[in-house]
Amino acid sequence: MLTYRMRIRYLRYTLLTAILAAVIYLASGHGARSFEAYCPFGGAESLWGLFTNNEFSCTLAPLNLSLMLALLALAVLAKKAFCGWSCPIGFLGELLGHAGGLIWRGRPAVPPLLNGRLKALRYVVLALALFFTYKTGELVLRGYDPYFLVFSGFGHGSSGLLSVIVLTLTALGALAVPMMFCRYLCPMGAVFDPFSRLGFIRLRRDKEKCTACGKCAAACPCDIPVDRLETVSHYDCTNCLECVDACPEKDVFQLRCAGLAQPLPKYIVAALAVLALTGGYFLRTAFTQPTATASFSGKAAAKTVFIVDGLKCKGTAGFFTSMYKDIPGIGGIETYASEHKAVFTYDPDIITRDRIRAVMETPVEFKDGTSEQVFKSRSMK
Ligand code: SF4
Ligand code: SF4
Ligand code: SF4
Repeated sequence: MLTYRMRIRYLRYTLLTAILAAVIYLASGHGARSFEAYCPFGGAESLWGLFTNNEFSCTLAPLNLSLMLALLALAVLAKKAFCGWSCPIGFLGELLGHAGGLIWRGRPAVPPLLNGRLKALRYVVLALALFFTYKTGELVLRGYDPYFLVFSGFGHGSSGLLSVIVLTLTALGALAVPMMFCRYLCPMGAVFDPFSRLGFIRLRRDKEKCTACGKCAAACPCDIPVDRLETVSHYDCTNCLECVDACPEKDVFQLRCAGLAQPLPKYIVAALAVLALTGGYFLRTAFTQPTATASFSGKAAAKTVFIVDGLKCKGTAGFFTSMYKDIPGIGGIETYASEHKAVFTYDPDIITRDRIRAVMETPVEFKDGTSEQVFKSRSMK
């Protein structure tokens, strides 16, 4: 029979598995957007490009920004609930942490002082990631980003053997220290920190009912000493409720929201996480910007939209539009790299849609004398 405490873990793992499956589906080439568009840290990386040039850098897209804003709002409400309930990398890290506990019985915890010091590393990673992205307009740390490496399968932008070494060490580290990447290295975790400190929804432990067995603290993937806290206000708390699951006593924990007298149902965190992801998805239209635009002398009498394989970042978008600079009849082109979309305005008396398609599918000649078809139309309407 399902017990109450099993249902919380099952609900969380069901949600995380669904999200992991969705990212794998996107990363295998399905869906309208790249899996990278669903990374909230891309929102932080996009800010400088938007501020200085009013455009998204590299493969970044409105969805990165809208998701980040929605998830920061979630952090103000429910701390790092995204990490506990929706992040595929956090989920993989957690599973590796469980596997590590099975392999290495009696695995020691990181001493609290060292644990606290190492957490400062995530601010260093955040500063480096933002500095280099803002300086170059490229996602230069992509080759060391587990989200990109895992789901792209060491795709374009990874750094060969170095990326393999970094990801292997990250995975081994997750076996030895639960949530190692999240604790010490994730820049998104660092972005969440000040918002999570506010986090209105917190666990409260009833001291009278507690028997001081310590099982809650042992179960916490973030090494928070839950058994010694009356209210879990720690900024690393993800509201994953693993401590609640682990507690053998009845009704020791309550989820409380500042300003509300009544305790909240445990499932509220899951509902808020889903709401934030959904809200972030729909909010993207407020930030929609083309990746690259070009205006030509042709009359803009008709419009056609192509979904183009190979149109995937700022660089390819710029190259794509340049292919039309000497083609008569094109009025303008707007490209949206994250959606692999190109919108043409054109003069149908001079050029047809089939001719527009033929131009994009023309093999490109490289300096070494080889040629390759870079773009392929997946659909046109
Ligand atoms: S800390 Fe980073 S990787 Fe870990 S769960 Fe949160 S966002 Fe995901
Ligand atoms: S304190 Fe509880 S809810 Fe917070 S991270 Fe630890 S186990 Fe999860
Ligand atoms: S698991 Fe429950 S009873 Fe044991 S220390 Fe934690 S809150 Fe107290």
